[in-house]
Amino acid sequence: MSLHYDLFVIGGGSGGVRASRMAAATGAKVGIAESYRWGGTCVIRGCVPKKLFSYASHVGEDLHDVAGYGWSLGGTPSFDWGKLMAAKNKEIDRLESVYENNVLAPAGVALHRGTAKLIGPNSIDLDGQTITADKILIAVGGHPTRLPIPGAELAMTSNELFELQDFPDSMLVYGSGYIAVEFAGIMQGLGADVTLAFRADKMLRGFDEDLRDHLTQMMINKGVTIRPYTTLESLAQAAGGIEVAWQEHGDALESQRFDQVLMATGRRPNTHNLGLEAVGVALNDKGAIEVDHHFETSVPGIYALGDVIDRVQLTPVALGEAMAFVDTHFKGKPRRMDYATIATAVFSDPSVGTIGLSEDEARAQGYEVEIYRSTGRAMKYILPDRNEKMLMKLVVCKETDRVLGLHYVGPDAGEIVQGFAVAMKMGASKADFDATVGIHPTAAEELVTMRTPAA
Ligand code: NDP
Repeated sequence: MSLHYDLFVIGGGSGGVRASRMAAATGAKVGIAESYRWGGTCVIRGCVPKKLFSYASHVGEDLHDVAGYGWSLGGTPSFDWGKLMAAKNKEIDRLESVYENNVLAPAGVALHRGTAKLIGPNSIDLDGQTITADKILIAVGGHPTRLPIPGAELAMTSNELFELQDFPDSMLVYGSGYIAVEFAGIMQGLGADVTLAFRADKMLRGFDEDLRDHLTQMMINKGVTIRPYTTLESLAQAAGGIEVAWQEHGDALESQRFDQVLMATGRRPNTHNLGLEAVGVALNDKGAIEVDHHFETSVPGIYALGDVIDRVQLTPVALGEAMAFVDTHFKGKPRRMDYATIATAVFSDPSVGTIGLSEDEARAQGYEVEIYRSTGRAMKYILPDRNEKMLMKLVVCKETDRVLGLHYVGPDAGEIVQGFAVAMKMGASKADFDATVGIHPTAAEELVTMRTPAA
């Protein structure tokens, strides 16, 4: 039996689900294929379970703070990784079912479980069944990578960490991007002894220098061992763990045993076994599918978006790309995705929120800037005497008064910077920030009350 669709989407993650249901809402006949689980990386083994783990980790810190607020808990609080994992799995199962039964099916999208492969510009093989479509959208995401060193297979990536059975007493997290920094905080907060090692001088390359320094100090205060300038040489199985051989500053090789190692050294687009070469879909120099402004690949009628095009690896970006794709190709309203001023949060401990340019980026782009900076302890942490400070920083263009960058380290970063992202997208000036009456007492009010430039 052969099937024909107006649009066939390969990949049931954030971008694919959004594109298929929005296209179906225009009356198009839409089918979607997923080889693993509905929801993709974000829902199944990314943002969502990570955030649940992050909440669990914060509960541990809050338990330490209770005495400062007059509460006492009977006995010593204890943590059960197995129970957290089971609760997480139950919630992910629920969300997967919501995607399948409450989102895609009611939207009129035909769901196919299986592995799809391009066999022509308008044809797909789905486990032996041929499907044709006027338009094909590839939204298959990416996968975490391991470094090509001896014993690399002994390390987990984030995929395996989400299924880890036994909680480790000690753990090496290698890398200093989003995933490394987030999991270092989560695992330390849940009770592991975490070392965060990376090759660079500081964590979170590309973020504002003050933010990087502040987060580093806060993580050290929380007990994470930070090892910059560290190169991994090899991993080997050792009694009850993994022996890690590494070099710091290019010095002599050292080794240390850890119960577990997490490699968080970047993600690559899923471009294998899709039939791309056979059909002539071109990849760019990063190994991602090359697309034009309207997500069309080098083959007319075949489109791609999300992590597989590797523009900005963030779920809300994939969702935005999917909306632009549907507006352009199904609603007759062609438009480009706007990648400017994308706010982002790192769910580290403490968390980080950033919008716009870092101080260095602003200077490199030729802006003369005024810097507003404030550090201090959140009110919430005073009675428990928690050794954690916030950082707030604004990078302001001296000539136009426009706020070019906003950087925050502290509790609830994602919640705080989301609202400011609207103002910054609208081009808010420092005068607009000053004219905004703060909400007292909050942490975020500091962002509208800084009056004296630091530099
Ligand atoms: P990132 O690209 O953020 O970081 C990769 C890390 O791996 C960097 O520290 C990099 O070091 C290091 N690295 C890369 N190659 C090597 C190498 N050969 N040797 C040593 N170190 C190496 O990737 P992640 O895996 O952390 O995350 C992938 C993407 O997922 C992120 O970019 C982000 O867009 C997204 N994400 C977003 C989250 C959020 O929104 N909160 C959460 C998690 C992921 P160096 O800096 O020196 O290059």
